[in-house]
Amino acid sequence: KSGFISIIGRPNVGKSTFLNRVIGQKIAIMSDKPQTTRNKVQGVLTLDDSQLIFIDTPGIHKPKHRLGDFMMKVAQNTLKEVDLVLFMVNAQEGYGRGEEFIIEKLQNVKTPVFLVINKIDLIHPDELLKLIESYNRKFNFAEIVPISALEGNNIEKLLEQIKEKM
Ligand code: GDP
Ligand code: MG
Repeated sequence: KSGFISIIGRPNVGKSTFLNRVIGQKIAIMSDKPQTTRNKVQGVLTLDDSQLIFIDTPGIHKPKHRLGDFMMKVAQNTLKEVDLVLFMVNAQEGYGRGEEFIIEKLQNVKTPVFLVINKIDLIHPDELLKLIESYNRKFNFAEIVPISALEGNNIEKLLEQIKEKM
């Protein structure tokens, strides 16, 4: 089994921390260099029975400046070409306009989308439940997975759920 996984989300939600933790166990490649292809491979996790290829999709965040339709189409098409989309949010920040913007872009994507709620070490479990409820009203996520990329909570479970979709 192998599959392509795109990680999207606003800056500072913890995408790099997550990848470092996941790939750090069994390094294949880890790249921070810009590539000419529109999909930037950030890391490949090789397991006994599967290979998970993590992709960076630039452009799926609320732009500071008006972004051309073309750029946005390219980014959205990229989401259609992967097997799974991980939409990562910061548990501490709640649902805001940046998240709303991304969810709008996901409306026409047929690929399963996981909501990954990161930084759960910083919030109370009651807050997490409220956050899950509010996100459930916005979009039909294939899974909602709370994690702490920093402390390593629930990462293995997330990887299992990812593998199930491959
Ligand atoms: P990115 O911009 O989405 O790639 O975010 P980074 O991975 O660079 O993380 C941004 C900041 O959030 C860094 O200071 C991380 O140490 C911190 N961070 C990432 N994950 C967690 C987490 O699970 N818990 C806490 N408390 N901090 C985190
Ligand atoms: Mg980063």
